Amino acid sequence: MSEPTGRYAVFGNPIAHSRSPWIHRRFAEQTGRPLHYEAILAPREGFAAALDAFQAEGGRGANVTLPFKEEAWRLCDERTARAERAGAVNTLVLRDDGTRLGDNTDGVGLVRDLTVNLGLALTGRRILLLGAGGAARGILAPLLGEHPAALHIANRTAERALRLAAEARGLGPVSGGGLDQRPDLPFDLVLNATSAGIAGALPILHFVDALITGALPTLPDGLLGPDVVCYDLAYGVASRPFLLWAQGQGARVVSDGTGMLVEQAAESFAIWHGVRPQTTGVIAALRRELAAGSG
Ligand code: NAP
Repeated sequence: MSEPTGRYAVFGNPIAHSRSPWIHRRFAEQTGRPLHYEAILAPREGFAAALDAFQAEGGRGANVTLPFKEEAWRLCDERTARAERAGAVNTLVLRDDGTRLGDNTDGVGLVRDLTVNLGLALTGRRILLLGAGGAARGILAPLLGEHPAALHIANRTAERALRLAAEARGLGPVSGGGLDQRPDLPFDLVLNATSAGIAGALPILHFVDALITGALPTLPDGLLGPDVVCYDLAYGVASRPFLLWAQGQGARVVSDGTGMLVEQAAESFAIWHGVRPQTTGVIAALRRELAAGSG
């Protein structure tokens, strides 16, 4: 490969767990593109300043992870239609003239992992989406685009879920509420888009039990159904509590967000470099890497 032509980075807080630099290195090797990609820990109140500095020092593209996706949306001069709709940005094109284009590749990455890599049909299914943060915003419209029978958003802060559902009402059969609200049952797909697992403890699982069972400590037979699929957008150790819980409920398919992570990264790579890398081998290698490193 020739010399790297520009700097790329992922911004977040925390960021030490991020595998994005590892993934983009694999993509760079695979496509022969020169690339310098790093992880940058931005202070909670200092993301805008960190991004300004990065762009001024030659940054040409950035991924954005929690908790900055909604702030990244506000810091863009221009947005793609899907980013505009999401109200959250995970991919920035940093132009030479100092302006920024924002995109959101989370939704297409998740839908691709669910439908292509895991071979799941979403049409006519009932989906429970836990969380109403930046990731939930990014995946909502693409999920509704698959024509589920219903999609209910449950969030610790009920107002955020209600607002998100109201914004998406024209796109499909969507509802929202707090974790204590009991929507119609059962669900075919439960997506954990909260960051609760990153903090270590997962009190949200008690909420999910309560939400699905009406506060019974264990699930009555058949409530989630033998075909239920449980998917955590988080990956590595952060996904373990939710995935263990899901296995305990007898979920047919249980998956962490490794595939989504690689797929959304491939979309970002394509936006920056004009070529979409192959993902299957990278997903398998990343799963091995995470298993070996326990994280
Ligand atoms: P975010 O914008 O900070 O939102 C966090 C969400 O989690 C909010 O809905 C928040 O509820 C909820 N939450 C946090 N702690 C909680 C707790 N203890 N109990 C219940 N709910 C809690 O984060 P994000 O960007 O949406 O990311 C969410 C998750 O998705 C993270 O694990 C992230 O790693 C993962 N993700 C993965 C991929 C991938 O490619 N695999 C892509 C994007 C995101 P409140 O509104 O009440 O605060």
